[in-house]
Amino acid sequence: MTADHYAVFGQPIAHSQSPRIHAAFGRQEGTALDYRAIDAAPDNFAAALEAFAASGGVGANITAPHKQAAFAACTTLTSRARRAGAVNTLLRKGDRWHGDTTDGIGLVRDLTDRHGLDLRGRRTLLIGAGGSARSVAPALLDAGILELVVVNRTPERADALIDAMGEPGRAITRYWEDMRELGDFELIINATSAGHDRSADFKLPLGLVNSMTTAVDLNYGEAAIAFIAWARSAGCRNVVDGLGMLVEQAAESFLQWHAVRPQTDAVYAELRGEHALAGED
Ligand code: NDP
Repeated sequence: MTADHYAVFGQPIAHSQSPRIHAAFGRQEGTALDYRAIDAAPDNFAAALEAFAASGGVGANITAPHKQAAFAACTTLTSRARRAGAVNTLLRKGDRWHGDTTDGIGLVRDLTDRHGLDLRGRRTLLIGAGGSARSVAPALLDAGILELVVVNRTPERADALIDAMGEPGRAITRYWEDMRELGDFELIINATSAGHDRSADFKLPLGLVNSMTTAVDLNYGEAAIAFIAWARSAGCRNVVDGLGMLVEQAAESFLQWHAVRPQTDAVYAELRGEHALAGED
């Protein structure tokens, strides 16, 4: 059987787990696929994507810094991708790309199915307004959270995110400097890339936390250390990193391409064995 071509585009991309995750899903489901990582500089992304399609590429994942460029390369989009303004999943339809974003649904699946959390009614703080925050925000609103407060270092990006949600009143922005006046939240999500900078710290106000708070970092491994350490010291009831989201967003992409959603527990367990939750051995 000839394997269809899939790839993940990003820069840097060498440490991406996606080829491994999709290979494991393919073995599990008996689906032959060839999935590789393609390192593309921003000014070469469009040409690299075109070359991939010309060589038989039928599906792709997109990671930083190409999610907006990939959005622009799509002829058709899912409604959640249109709302996010960014895509992480491309599907070839004839000679066009169809775009979707699975980060948000991946996070929600991880929190609800794997961690057994009920998101309904939760007052939620989303820190960050980049590509992943834009995918996560509509998925959280759709999952029934009570209110979404978005805080971002660059406030204009938070405003743009909220404008795209189209839920005035239920989804609002606040300035980072005003974090002390926001009250407390049942769900706090770090969707920034600040943890990749070893000098960054997360001295967020302790008053953000109540006895029910779940803190979630979209990052995992070293990049999640600072936020997870803050969440623990603040007394959060549950602390979750982004490893489960990584596996679940991949499963949602796999579903788009192969019309079957793979079981994720075995792949998650294997990765968790190699990437302990920050602060745990
Ligand atoms: P983007 O580059 O699109 O956005 C980065 C965000 O981080 C912006 O909101 C930016 O603020 C903020 N930021 C960066 N540095 C700092 C800092 N020092 N202090 C405060 N805020 C900062 O990235 P993505 O949204 O795509 O990804 C965000 C993180 O989530 C990444 O680390 C990524 O690895 C992770 N991720 C995990 C996934 C998973 O499956 N687990 C999936 C997708 C992403 P500003 O607007 O002011 O620049």
